This record gives sequence, C-alpha cells and structure tokens, in this order.
Amino acid sequence: MKTIQNQNFANQNVLVRCDFNVPLNKETREITDDTRIRESLPTIKKLLADGAAVILMSHLGRPSETGFEEKYSLKPVAEHLSKLLGINVKLADDIFENKTIENAKNLKSGEVLLLENLRFLPGEQKGDVAFARYLADLGNAYVNDAFGTAHRAHASTAVIAQFFPNDRYFGFLLANEITNLEKLLNNGEKPFTAIIGGSKVSSKIDILKNLIPRVDNMIIGGGMAYTFIKAMGGQIGKSICEDDKLDLAKDIMKEMDAKGVKYYFPTDSVCGDKFDNDAQIKTFPSNAIPEEWEGMDAGAESVKTFEKIIAESKTILWNGPMGVFEFANFGHGTTAIAKAVAAATQNGAFSAIGGGDSVAAINQNKLANQMSYISTGGGAMLEYLEGRVLPGVAAILG
Ligand code: AMP
Repeated sequence: MKTIQNQNFANQNVLVRCDFNVPLNKETREITDDTRIRESLPTIKKLLADGAAVILMSHLGRPSETGFEEKYSLKPVAEHLSKLLGINVKLADDIFENKTIENAKNLKSGEVLLLENLRFLPGEQKGDVAFARYLADLGNAYVNDAFGTAHRAHASTAVIAQFFPNDRYFGFLLANEITNLEKLLNNGEKPFTAIIGGSKVSSKIDILKNLIPRVDNMIIGGGMAYTFIKAMGGQIGKSICEDDKLDLAKDIMKEMDAKGVKYYFPTDSVCGDKFDNDAQIKTFPSNAIPEEWEGMDAGAESVKTFEKIIAESKTILWNGPMGVFEFANFGHGTTAIAKAVAAATQNGAFSAIGGGDSVAAINQNKLANQMSYISTGGGAMLEYLEGRVLPGVAAILG
C-alpha cells in the first residue's frame, strides 16, 4: 500500500480527498459531530509538516447539483478546521471556476485551501472525467483519505487518480481502515465472532455470506433475527419479518451448518404491544411471541448467552443494533453488547465496529476509546465486508 508515510511532500500542492460529510444543526449550521474532521487531521498535519500546500476536497450532504446552496456550503467545516489546525483554512468559494484555480496556484507551503462542496456540480457523482481533470490540475500529488466515500466511483474519489500515475497515495485514515478490515477478515485471531443486527436480512445477505467461511460464531440479532426464527417454525407475533426471505434464511443457516459456524439468535425477546417507547413491555421466548406482540430487543437470557460468547472471542465484528435502541426501553440489549465488546477488548480481543447505529450506541455509552477500531464509513465498511473491491481503493492501487 503506497501511503504518505515515507514520502516527503515539501513544496508540493497536494490534493486530499477527505470525508467532511459531517452532521450539522439545521438552524444554526453548527457541526454536531466532528469525528470525521478530527480523524483527517493526522494526514493534513503530516503534509503541512513536510512543507506542502494542502488542497482539501469533500462533499457535504445531498445538494441539488445545480450550483451553490448555502445550506450545503463547507464554510462551517473551513471554520472548524481553522480552529483545530490553528491556521486560517481558506474556502475556495467560486464553485470550480477560475478563482479556485488561482487560489490553488497561489497557495504557499504550509497553507490550506478547502474547495467548496464537490456535489454542487453534477460532475462529481457522475464520475465525469473533465471535472476530475479540472480538480487534478489544481495539484501535483493526490491523496485519498475519504474511506466514507471509497465505495463510490466519483470524480474526486476514483476517476481523478488516473491523472497521478506516480503520485497517488493512501492517507493515514484510509490506510488504517483497510489495515484493520484486512486484519479482521483475514488475519484475526480465533475465535472470531460476528455480531450482526439491524432491521433487515435483505441488506445484510452479502455480509453474512462473506463472513461464513471466516467466523467461528455468528450472533444474529435485531429485527433481522425474526426472519430466521420464523423460517425455523417459530411464532414471532407481529415482529418485523421479510416473508420473501424465509428460504434465503434457511439457506444461510444450512451454509453455516456446513461450514461449522455456530450461530445464535435471541432466545428471548423483550416485546412491545406497539412500536413505541411507551408500549407495554413483556418478555417472551423469541419463538413463541403472541399475535399482538412485537419483538423489539434481546431479552436477558439472550444477552447472557451473547456476553459469554463475546467474552471468549479474540476477534469481534459488530454491525447493527440488537433492538430498537432509539427507544430507551428497548435499548438494553444493544447497550449490553456494547459493554461486552468493550470488556472483551480490554481483555485483549481485537474489535471492529461499523455502521451508524452501533457506533451511536457506543458513543452513547462513552465506550469509543475502549474499542480497537471504529470505522468512519458505514456503507464503505459494509461493502468491504461483503468482499467487494472499493473503487476509491482500487484507483490508488492502479
Ligand atoms: P439497519 O439500518 O438495517 O442496520 O437497521 C437499523 C435499525 O434496525 C434501527 O433503526 C433499529 O431501530 C432497527 N431495529 C433493530 N431491531 C429491531 C426490531 N426488533 N424491530 C424493528 N426494528 C428493529
């Protein structure tokens, strides 16, 4: 992997694709979670320390691609980054015309320029070669540090790399994500336990299939478990279920049997009589949920089983909540998993967490610094775990 580590970028104009797609308060436009910005600092600081002029590129949200829109401007990011770096980060705000070119050309060693939201124009998402060339002409080296968009073949994430046949690099964040994911998938110590949750089996099929040859234990929780439980003949009441995926669930279980993977579903479910935090609550066996009830969290017995498996694991992947954790009354299973993974990590296991909901649960419980690795890219991590080649990664490898 050609990273920026052993390269000196003195006096170069280095283009860096970051993922500054951060959540903003709709009214005040304040950044509500700056994790992605902070995670990009090591790369930016290394380039500045070398004496490079740094040109940062990112998208933010989903603008209409028809030009500037105040609410999607990267201005709050430029301001926040200025504070974090302790230097003035300029915003190139003429939306990819001559002033941006001039700003980039005049940039001096040790200075930082942030381009405006790349998605103000349609060329970015279309992967337009002319737009990629325009961006490429602004610098003489290219660094991709945007894992969160590495699964997209966009102008700034993939197409641009062809213009830097000898000067394209993995930034620290992107390299770190790949190193961790490779360790997880191919070099982890055994036993390896995957904990997969969330609402639907259909969105996790490819992950499950790619993990089966690799893992020793598969814990399947959250709403998706009920499709499996029904496929085994269980009564799941009005729990969420994909009836058109019952055969697929059976096939997945057959495959796990064939590969010797031990798999676990919640044996008991905390149920509600309606999809609401204030629902009446009762616990039933997950395969004997009465008609009017809906499984919304893993019960105490399930949690105990899951905790034991997690404690005995040396490699742990967690993606997806164990229940409707947005409702506090149905968040106990998810919190228990977060704590169990943290405890196992403190005892020497390698843990990898991905997906917005699992990461949110970890942050809610202030456990982030007790995990080995938390991915900055939900969708990109999922695709990597599905065994797909990410265009942003492939483009740097060439
Ligand atoms: P996903 O986007 O597929 O990863 O699923 C995340 C969502 O699954 C969260 O919003 C959870 O509220 C939801 N979820 C988890 N468990 C259940 C359940 N038992 N019933 C309905 N939704 C669930």
